[in-house]
Amino acid sequence: MALIVQKFGGTSVGTVERIEQVADKVKKFREAGDDLVVVLSAMSGETNRLIDLAKQISDQPVPRELDVIVSTGEQVTIALLAMALMKRGVPAVSYTGNQVRILTDSAHNKARILQIDDQKIRCDLKAGKVVVVAGFQGVDEQGNITTLGRGGSDTTGVALAAALKADECQIYTDVDGVYTTDPRVVSQAQRLDKITFEEMLEMASLGSKVLQIRAVEFAGKYSVPLRVLHSFQEGPGTLITIDEEESMEQPIISGIAFNRDEAKLTIRGVPDTPGVAFKILGPISAANIEVDMIVQNVSHDNTTDFTFTVHRNDYDKAHKVLATTAQELNAREVVGDTNIAKVSIVGVGMRSHAGVASRMFEALAKESINIQMISTSEIKVSVVIEEKYLELAVRALHTAFELDAPARQGE
Ligand code: ASP
Ligand code: MG
Repeated sequence: MALIVQKFGGTSVGTVERIEQVADKVKKFREAGDDLVVVLSAMSGETNRLIDLAKQISDQPVPRELDVIVSTGEQVTIALLAMALMKRGVPAVSYTGNQVRILTDSAHNKARILQIDDQKIRCDLKAGKVVVVAGFQGVDEQGNITTLGRGGSDTTGVALAAALKADECQIYTDVDGVYTTDPRVVSQAQRLDKITFEEMLEMASLGSKVLQIRAVEFAGKYSVPLRVLHSFQEGPGTLITIDEEESMEQPIISGIAFNRDEAKLTIRGVPDTPGVAFKILGPISAANIEVDMIVQNVSHDNTTDFTFTVHRNDYDKAHKVLATTAQELNAREVVGDTNIAKVSIVGVGMRSHAGVASRMFEALAKESINIQMISTSEIKVSVVIEEKYLELAVRALHTAFELDAPARQGE
């Protein structure tokens, strides 16, 4: 008999009918003998609706009060599911974050879980109940309701699984797993049976939005086996694990991630002397702007060009800061480009294979796609290219690294 934490997202509990369907599903698991803790999101769109209500009163709602409001979304779905389960003869009980006692810090709207009291849950499980817990919310030392940031129910699920030492944390959502890349861009994309935490973190931070990044970090830290599955279709989903299998069939690259959220800034003709990188990026970070990729060119005549990328939302701000720096440093000019995209290949197989980067560059060269910037880590190679070539690049790489699904018969 296993202890499983199951988390259902907003679309899976978006209507009363869906909640009834979830209840059917949970009942099946229960009948198979598993102990179940179910974590729910609010009905899809509900959290946005609640935030919108708050914003009608105030542009910048008081964070504490906003948490009181948005935490109600999950309170509705947990009670509905508990009722639907009981209607099916399955004993169940619902708890808010406060009732379980999911203790968090006091950072309203983005609180971190500090501790979970598992007493009550264990007691209920022993009594044969399915325990339904509100995702996304907790309570601080002072008894204030807190929330964990958008998408935070994933983190609740993983944290509960860690606290209860569950055998698996299953994240049910509207896709049937983690894919080699976005199927909307590459129709040949395939569901992965397995992916490592590290790879998943890279994929998530690079724009593949199946799971909240914090949930993946949490799961990796506490070694919680995590599985992404479709709420209403049968299938094994994708298991996110620690172990890197050494197998011959293991592909070198697990996935291709991409995002269009970045912009590029270059400061030209800066003196190539110690401290210059700090003089350029110091004011950027002081302005609370996060920098992603950084490239400094080889210098000519003791001056050099320095390029970095920031989130597109920060572009204007960063441009202004950099213009000031350019004056101070007597730099030649500042140029920027918002029509860029980042494409990355990700895979732990890179550790044991040479030539992965050059294979990537070859595939892009064949399509005449110019690479503007490159950065690498142990399990990732990222390039910045012109945005209009993004989809072409992703498709070319997907094929080059043999990730395309085999054509079905008759196709
Ligand atoms: N309901 C919250 C949100 O929409 C939390 C979640 O769904 O994970 O962000
Ligand atoms: Mg969600």
